[in-house]
Amino acid sequence: MTTLKGRRPETDMIHAGEPKPRIGGAAVMPIFQSANFETVEGEAYHDISYIRLSNTPNHTALAEKLCALEGSEAALVCASGMAAITTSLLANLCPGGHLLIGKCLYGGTHGFVFGLLEKFGATYSVIDINAPESWEDLLRDETRVIYTEAMTNPLLEVADHAAVVAFARSHGLVSMIDNTFTSPVNFRPCELGYDLSLQSATKYLNGHSDIVGGTIAGSGAQVKAIKHHLDLLGGCMDPHQCFLLHRGMKTLGVRVAQHNKSARQLAEMLAAHPKVLRVNYPGLASSPTHERAKVLFDGFGGMLSFEPDTEPDGAAALLSSLKIAMSAPSLGGVESLVTLPATTSHAGLSKSERESIGVSDSLVRVSVGIEHIEDLLADFEQALATL
Ligand code: PLP
Repeated sequence: MTTLKGRRPETDMIHAGEPKPRIGGAAVMPIFQSANFETVEGEAYHDISYIRLSNTPNHTALAEKLCALEGSEAALVCASGMAAITTSLLANLCPGGHLLIGKCLYGGTHGFVFGLLEKFGATYSVIDINAPESWEDLLRDETRVIYTEAMTNPLLEVADHAAVVAFARSHGLVSMIDNTFTSPVNFRPCELGYDLSLQSATKYLNGHSDIVGGTIAGSGAQVKAIKHHLDLLGGCMDPHQCFLLHRGMKTLGVRVAQHNKSARQLAEMLAAHPKVLRVNYPGLASSPTHERAKVLFDGFGGMLSFEPDTEPDGAAALLSSLKIAMSAPSLGGVESLVTLPATTSHAGLSKSERESIGVSDSLVRVSVGIEHIEDLLADFEQALATL
């Protein structure tokens, strides 16, 4: 383990987990495009290197880099964010476990928990993330996990994460968080006391919109138990995916610093715009969870959403008028993306379900990229002028 204790995260992003000595002197970790590795005499069957067992040199280097960034004891990479989420939930809940989970979730997580979890013999109850005093009533003897997201999507509200950690500890639950929107640059949940921090590496961690991937960070015991499930369920990351993620992670610090800065400027511009009714961004003083975000996070992130003063058709036309920001549902890449959650991430919910969580059909979500901010501001100005 080459974690550079005492160094700042930007240094660890580049140097932690790198092989020492460098392989063949290479400045960059090579891709080990090999499914099999020669068995060393006396090696146990489960210790042999094999891609599906997430223990090739590419996997190990990434796991060590992640530990350094997340401040966790152990870490693991896997095929996608959903592989990280589903494998961690299955490992901790099945069979017979009960889950406490927030309402405003990433669509895939919503689909898995509300649509599939019961098939695996587990149950769930929905909690109000803003009302910790109401959680105890939902506890059952078989409750094992409490699950949140760092910020809700697409309203960017920040849960009372300190209360989640305290609640989990006092009731012997495993606390899990999806840290995709914040990335470990802005928030390190394990340092706060979360048992598991999960990410879709597809987003900020890789940052270049060219792979899907997932990460799991937490205690040695937790990661080991989840790895056992991952090994058997098969959701491993392939070596080329590992290579691209490794490269992407080295620039995470500079990218996220720029995302933070640009999103704040765009949020401020939109908040002052006459054709915008509401802006959701935890960095704005008007956000209901701004004070909480200030305490928990080192930066407010690159995600925002806003309600233009128009009907849903007008919001769709606004997206088409943008010349730089591309209309696409993902997030966390260097390029700015816009989407209408009602027709993408939250299309699986009925209109009344969406309305109950505050997602209108005109709401626009923006993943603010790292293009020059003046160009981005001008792009949104000209698009809003068409309304
Ligand atoms: N978590 C969040 C917050 C997401 O936005 C996404 C994908 O958009 C995921 C998890 C799932 O990640 P992946 O697409 O890598 O499986």
